[in-house]
Amino acid sequence: MKYIEEVLNRVMINNPGETEFHTAVREVLLSVEPVVLSHEKEYREIQLLERLVEPERIISFRIPWVDDAGRLHINRGYRVQFNSALGPYKGGLRFHPSVNQSILNFLAFEQTFKNALTGQAIGGGKGGANFDPKGKSDREIMAFCQSFMSELFKYIGPNEDVPAGDIGVGSREIGYMYGQYKRLTNQYEGTLTGKGLRYGGSLVRTEATGYGLVYITEEMLNAAGRTLKDSIVTVSGSGNVAIYAIEKAAAMGARVVTASDSDGYVYDPDGIKLDVLKEIKEEKRGRISMYADMVPSAGYFSGRKPWEVGCDVALPCAIQYEMDLDDAKKLVSGGCIAVAEGANMPVTEDATMYLQSQGVLFMPGKASNAGGVAVSALEMSQNSMRIKKSFEEVDNQLQLIMKDIWQQVITAAHDYGRDGNYVAGANIAGFRCVVKAMREQGWV
Ligand code: NDP
Repeated sequence: MKYIEEVLNRVMINNPGETEFHTAVREVLLSVEPVVLSHEKEYREIQLLERLVEPERIISFRIPWVDDAGRLHINRGYRVQFNSALGPYKGGLRFHPSVNQSILNFLAFEQTFKNALTGQAIGGGKGGANFDPKGKSDREIMAFCQSFMSELFKYIGPNEDVPAGDIGVGSREIGYMYGQYKRLTNQYEGTLTGKGLRYGGSLVRTEATGYGLVYITEEMLNAAGRTLKDSIVTVSGSGNVAIYAIEKAAAMGARVVTASDSDGYVYDPDGIKLDVLKEIKEEKRGRISMYADMVPSAGYFSGRKPWEVGCDVALPCAIQYEMDLDDAKKLVSGGCIAVAEGANMPVTEDATMYLQSQGVLFMPGKASNAGGVAVSALEMSQNSMRIKKSFEEVDNQLQLIMKDIWQQVITAAHDYGRDGNYVAGANIAGFRCVVKAMREQGWV
């Protein structure tokens, strides 16, 4: 049996039922096959792939908290510290009812290669809890965050593991967790990123994932002789990544016509009005359907996804597996020429292959949404140096990092005869970087 197949089998046996994790490992290992084949003997000897797919540490713990009615609830929290070859573990915390071991293993594994692509000194990790923040009062959110941090603080630190936000974890939650961390450790240090601007947060961190997504999408379009200017763009989600992708795409001259949440999507042919969207999502914490009540040009489509709307560019920015093969077919027949993932693994494997087979430009999340973690790493260095960089300075660094990621992706794809296959390019570039560090650090 071929080495990669042996390792894939081992992952399935050691992690039964973890379909998201299996998919993520399969995608990476199959696309780095040419690299593995040229080093197979050495990699087997040092069990390189076996070590690469095994998290360094998985922590899971109980989170008791009390709701406003005085009832006790128990959730499960996790932190997966996947790979520290390149630096302290780094990756977000997700609060969502779907969170489980499989989803966090997949996210932490992906994060390892994404972080490598940023060129910053950060390893891969991810964490969270199967907690649903929807409909919870501010006090309940605080109680949950404090209980979560009362356990997590034992395993994190500025040189050890530096969590950030993800789905369901924004600046409010990071603030509550940081407050509790500080209370427990008596340390004022850069252990979480995405902090408020008055206590160690970096300018541009809020915008970074969405902006970075748009910067790399523009690079990809330019290489094909196209541009975002005057393009019609569809976006899914209406959270942190979606809002700032919409903001930057509009600033670059695109017309973004959709936004969504888990209930449905809104279509505004005049272009999504960002002030209304921010008011609904960042201030009122409301549902996307409110947009159609507030903006006469918009329609609301309950229980549907935005991929049925004709567009030039689609940016899925909500959650894993939100674009399947049927959606991909609709996009192609609607004239879509490019898809870039703002979320992690939003496009299913068969949909990705279909889009690529139809000549649609496709940029995978580990390259296209790396801007968030890149600016998190810049926040870490600002905290260590006790300095604060300006918005322009950080935004310029972000643009340089996204350009560099683009160059790494196309170069790696070219080196292995996969020109135009950005999935292969991103995986190979990230893999080569992580593997080199692992080899040089010995059998650990
Ligand atoms: P948020 O919690 O801010 O927003 C998530 C959005 O996705 C919400 O609008 C949510 O709607 C929507 N959503 C959730 N589940 C579904 C569903 N089943 N169908 C349709 N929409 C859904 O999260 P972020 O914007 O931070 O993260 C979005 C994605 O981007 C995630 O995959 C995350 O891992 C990835 N990412 C985030 C980074 C960051 O810096 N924040 C960095 C890199 C990647 P609802 O309110 O209904 O749940």
